[in-house]
Amino acid sequence: MVRHPAAKKKEDDSLVKLRHSASHVMAQAVQEFFPGVKLSIGPSTDDGFYYDFDYEGTFSPDDFPKLEARMKEIIDQDLPFIREEISKEEALNLFKKRGELYKVELLQAIEDEHITLYRHDDFVDLCRGPHAPSTGGIKAFKLLSVAGAYWRGDEHNKMLQRIYGTAFPTQKELDAYLAMLEEAKRRDHRRLGQELDLFSIHEEAGAGLIIYHPKGALLRSILEDFERREHLRRGYQIVIGPQILKLDLWKQSGHFDNYKDYMYFTQVEDQEYALKPMNCLAHMLIYKSRQRSYRDLPLRYFELGTVHRHERSGVLHGLLRVREFTQDDAHILCRPDQLHDEIRGILTFVKDVMDVFDFSYELEVSTRPEKSIGSDADWEMATKALMDVLIQDDLAYEVNEGEGAFYGPKIDVKLQDALGRQWQCATIQCDLTMPERFDLSYIGSDGEKHRPVMLHRVILGAMERFIGILIEHYGGAFPLWLAPVQAVILTVTDRNIPYGEGIYQRLCEEGIRVEQDFRNEKLGLKIREAQLQKIPYMLVIGDKEQETKTIAPRRRDGTDLQGMEFEKFLALIHNERKIPEASLPQRR
Ligand SMILES: [Zn+2]
Ligand SMILES: [Zn+2]
Repeated sequence: MVRHPAAKKKEDDSLVKLRHSASHVMAQAVQEFFPGVKLSIGPSTDDGFYYDFDYEGTFSPDDFPKLEARMKEIIDQDLPFIREEISKEEALNLFKKRGELYKVELLQAIEDEHITLYRHDDFVDLCRGPHAPSTGGIKAFKLLSVAGAYWRGDEHNKMLQRIYGTAFPTQKELDAYLAMLEEAKRRDHRRLGQELDLFSIHEEAGAGLIIYHPKGALLRSILEDFERREHLRRGYQIVIGPQILKLDLWKQSGHFDNYKDYMYFTQVEDQEYALKPMNCLAHMLIYKSRQRSYRDLPLRYFELGTVHRHERSGVLHGLLRVREFTQDDAHILCRPDQLHDEIRGILTFVKDVMDVFDFSYELEVSTRPEKSIGSDADWEMATKALMDVLIQDDLAYEVNEGEGAFYGPKIDVKLQDALGRQWQCATIQCDLTMPERFDLSYIGSDGEKHRPVMLHRVILGAMERFIGILIEHYGGAFPLWLAPVQAVILTVTDRNIPYGEGIYQRLCEEGIRVEQDFRNEKLGLKIREAQLQKIPYMLVIGDKEQETKTIAPRRRDGTDLQGMEFEKFLALIHNERKIPEASLPQRR
């Protein structure tokens, strides 16, 4: 079969050139308005560009209009970007003379004796390029924000000021992007997390550590129940391992050598331990706890495993980048002849679950990184197994050279949310090294010992991150099955409270997640507040409902369902709140 490269090319070269060119033009404008500004770096990014500046004053968005006006002039002049090659010596002299200390430091680290510069107008930058032919190539741009950024991303270095911007080939595309940004701001999971009272992060408890409030904890529990059920339906077994394991075990697995910068360590009674950054080791010990036969395989161990990884404080971001998180992690141990079917089973699982949340996604294969363990032959066989399934099943994918885990190649799943943004969630990693290091074996049909293959995989990834993505994907308005509060009872007057209490009781007994708002407030206000809380159903109870023994449900989108009998509403909500079942894999 034919290999299908993904439909969308990862980086559109002309867009990269355009955005990087815009960063030069912005840097020129900044230097003109703010004498003494030192330049550091100014790359293009997935959504635009930025430039880092060292400046004694403080930039603010109030500076953007004049900077943008000047940028527009430079663009209208259509000045050519001129590439120049000079010796390192000459380049050092040039940037020293201009007082560009960061450029000098960058130059000193370059081993090549030939340096390329790009010039336009009076502006010159140390740059590998490429660029648009001239400044006129930058069609539509906008400056977006200012943020602090450490020189070289290292918090021991000086904090610089980063100005972000974006650029597009047409004004229409720029406008669409800006509208998406506005919507993303409105849906920011940190803001909604606070407004909907889902979670908080406290500096005094520690950065990157999530504290779930009742509604957030409920949301997570619902997701976890969904996960347990779906795994059991697919022949996984639920296991639970400890939070800390002896350091020697992490040395044996290779984690200590390859991953220690991200690990937390502790010592108890002269014994060194590490907090697990991954769940693999306990699962291997379960496998090893008895002799396995070829008939026992595959074994699929599933754990909602909480792990700790020391991410730098600069990269932490709400629920999306944290230091403690729980993965929907599984390890599959199988015979080499079962590997393809197991990989296929995981890919089908991913598809079924993504369908439940209405996510589309793309697949990427990551190959051997520089820092890795295992033999060339093993890497080749593992990489081939992953690719084979993608090719046989006619699935589109891209290849990321050198981006694999240190113990094996992987398939990454990038889902796309309601705003068209991509997020990395599921991964499937093929590992031939760990079974070797832990001397895992099974007795084959030939009566001999054989080595199993191990697959590491997650479907949603980190629960924290996935919940963050879900909050933004749904804008906080979760589908009924996920909503931590499914209905709220709103009384019109205090006379209706006893009837309301009866309804509340009945709904609780039926397993509906219900709240009551019996405050002596105007009904309009109560409805508005419930809508802000994005509660799917508001059940209005006044004298009329009380007399006729009915309730008047409203949906959060404003749809008024009119008065109906309680039993009728109950049937309706029970039907709508069913947890969707991800379709089971097709047997081949
Ligand atoms: Zn450049
Ligand atoms: Zn693992």
